Amino acid sequence: MSSQTTPQTTSDELFTRSLKVAPGGVHSPVRAFKSVGGIPQFFASAKGAYLKGVEGKQFVDFCQSFGPLILGHLDDEVLDVVKESVHLAWSFGACEPYSLELAEWITSRIPWVEKLRFVSSGTEAVMSAIRLARGYTKKNKILKFSGCYHGHVDSLLVKAGSGLAGLAASDSSGVSDNTARETLVAPLDDEKAFLDIVQNNKNDLAAVIIEPLPANYGLLLQRKEFIKKIAEVCKQNSVLLIFDEVISGFRVALGGMAEVLDIRPDLVTYGKVIGGGFPVGCYGGKKEIMDFVAPSGPVYQAGTLSANPIGMRAGLATLKKVEREKVYQTLEMRTEKFSFELEKLLCEYVGPMKVVHQASIFWMHSDSGRSIRRFEDISKDHAENFKKIFHALLDQGVYLAPSGYEVGFLGYAHTESILHESLAKIKMALKSSF
Ligand SMILES: *Cc1c(COP(=O)(O)O)cnc(C)c1O
Repeated sequence: MSSQTTPQTTSDELFTRSLKVAPGGVHSPVRAFKSVGGIPQFFASAKGAYLKGVEGKQFVDFCQSFGPLILGHLDDEVLDVVKESVHLAWSFGACEPYSLELAEWITSRIPWVEKLRFVSSGTEAVMSAIRLARGYTKKNKILKFSGCYHGHVDSLLVKAGSGLAGLAASDSSGVSDNTARETLVAPLDDEKAFLDIVQNNKNDLAAVIIEPLPANYGLLLQRKEFIKKIAEVCKQNSVLLIFDEVISGFRVALGGMAEVLDIRPDLVTYGKVIGGGFPVGCYGGKKEIMDFVAPSGPVYQAGTLSANPIGMRAGLATLKKVEREKVYQTLEMRTEKFSFELEKLLCEYVGPMKVVHQASIFWMHSDSGRSIRRFEDISKDHAENFKKIFHALLDQGVYLAPSGYEVGFLGYAHTESILHESLAKIKMALKSSF
């Protein structure tokens, strides 16, 4: 499907212009290709499993907008709903039935989400859930895990500090030391370290937040017992447990990792898939806690474009199709097979590598002979190795997220024949570059 027309413009030209008007030329850092080098590819359109570059070149898309597009780009069924919605209203700033329909759909299927509030991004969902946890418990500290990402919320842009166990340090300029001090950081995969930090801080600790499937610094598959232990310790110490399911929610199962692990968090945050590609986020959980949110309770949270009707209807259309067509089973089978074949190719041409996967999420890393459960365990040369693989694939028309720490996604539009074709391209790419 290569385009024969003369390109109107090139990524090169567009990036030069972008650098003049946006920091680093982008509106979200990873898009800048900083960790893989080179000029970012600009895209003009997309359909199904494919992206079309501004130069007319076609790419198989394994980034899928970093996760929201579980059905692929412009799914026909969702597209019809979006077209219809555009003619109804773009925004009301008032009550409407569309968010109600999505809220009822979710709460009727996910019993631990008794009430919910829609927002416009994953970051906003997390930020609000944390405020709510503080307001509800009347405590101030939050514990997060090193190797989990929760959006660009100030208090969570922290890393493990040196010195006393659990103390955090700012991980971004602009996040003050005072803010960082309200957050504790524990390592993943270490029950004892976690227990110690909780016991030393339980009188101040409002909540523990975790990505139950850490998928933002590689795919760090956790032991179920570890997450179970966290839930247990939280309960025993009257600390709220927040599952950040912005990436895993509606992606690994309708009920996300809470369903997969059979663990019930007090609060949960969603984003990405919930809006089917539109800016939607959500936080929800126990009624008793959610009723602390304004206007029924004292914790303030609001949004001009919250529950945007187009996003609400696109999200609902996406989730309905996912449920009706048993998308999870299909995606899981295809991802397993694809990961297996990809790993074989990487091992043949690049060296000992692993492709770990869960549901429709996959991640490649060099094989050190043991499972990587913490981001500290990722080999130091990982980013450098990924660079070469990334560009080899890009040249052949296979697009991965432009960082070795980002995971890959399959969407329902990645049919078996498209995956077959992709593996052939990947083989060619690796053969000619390694
Ligand atoms: C993507 C992500 C976020 C942030 O969501 P945005 O919509 O990018 O603000 C938060 N938490 C997790 C687990 C995520 O994957």
